[in-house]
Amino acid sequence: MDRRNFFQSSALVTSGALAGCALPGVAQQAKTPFHVPAVNIPIVGSDEVFPVRRIYCIGRNYAAHAREMGSDPTREPPFFFQKPTDAIQFVPAGTVVDHPYPPLTQNYHYEAELVACLGAGGRNIPVAKALDLVYGYTLGLDMTRRDLQRAMGDQKKPWEIGKSFDRSAPIGAVHKVSQTGHFTQGAIWLKVNGQIKQNANLNQMIWSVAEQISKLSEANELFPGDIIYSGTPENVGPVVRGDVIEMHIDGLPNLSVKIV
Ligand code: MN
Repeated sequence: MDRRNFFQSSALVTSGALAGCALPGVAQQAKTPFHVPAVNIPIVGSDEVFPVRRIYCIGRNYAAHAREMGSDPTREPPFFFQKPTDAIQFVPAGTVVDHPYPPLTQNYHYEAELVACLGAGGRNIPVAKALDLVYGYTLGLDMTRRDLQRAMGDQKKPWEIGKSFDRSAPIGAVHKVSQTGHFTQGAIWLKVNGQIKQNANLNQMIWSVAEQISKLSEANELFPGDIIYSGTPENVGPVVRGDVIEMHIDGLPNLSVKIV
């Protein structure tokens, strides 16, 4: 008996409780001893919110950034990591949200990224069908404790402490594909205190959003609510308390945070 059959035949799971479950075996209607808040992002032009299931991020997806991180972009297959869902820090358009400088680092970096938000899932999705899974797009910062990421990499240990920490994923509202179309080109830039730092084009991605979805779906079954940070261009760099980050992607409202 496989795992799925075991759980579905188990008395622990009541009939119907599996509906809407990401994976079998967890009864979502069961009583819980305390409340864990859901992580939702507003959807522009809608009274619905986008429920975030998982945050995936691709590494080194612009050639010049891969080189600045010390790898050869021509030979490296795509690789992914995750942030915890509650690392989301929603940043409303037209506001500057306070973003706390995190503990344990002396080299805190910005990474400006396009984020694809999935409304459907699946396994082994062909590239030609992959964009059908996208519900919408937004922009986000993959904030990184670069010193910890590098130190762990040097020791061949997991990157997690450098990438996956509280509020490491500032993000804007979700814009539906039906309103924006897909983002395959257009300017992506980031300023610190009004000075341009990152400045590139989405068409410089090594692996397109469609290719990322396809590749990721070979490793994990994808589900509605999964979001994918699609990588950052070159010229990542540090911020300190008091700095204001503003990022832009053509077709989306800018996102701004102040490091406090
Ligand atoms: Mn990144």
